[in-house]
Amino acid sequence: MKIFLKSLKKNLNKLENCIFCQIIKGSIPAKKIFEDEDILAFDDIAPKAPVHFLVIPKKHLSTVSDMQEEDQKLFGKMIFKAQDLAKKKD
Ligand SMILES: [Zn+2]
Repeated sequence: MKIFLKSLKKNLNKLENCIFCQIIKGSIPAKKIFEDEDILAFDDIAPKAPVHFLVIPKKHLSTVSDMQEEDQKLFGKMIFKAQDLAKKKD
């Protein structure tokens, strides 16, 4: 879950400057490992561990503070997808 929390810690306020939105749009290349209508998972560009990937929501959320109650399901999905992908990569 370190992976998931790292992405949330980034304080990226402006949508146009958001690296994750640019990765989702494809303007910044990433080695995608999973994608659906809600989330995207990709390998970290500078891995700090043998298995190091990020799972991000396609909906722009700068910080944990921006999360709404309606995002509960989305974040639950991200956590379980991260767990699933980590198992497959082990
Ligand atoms: Zn964004």
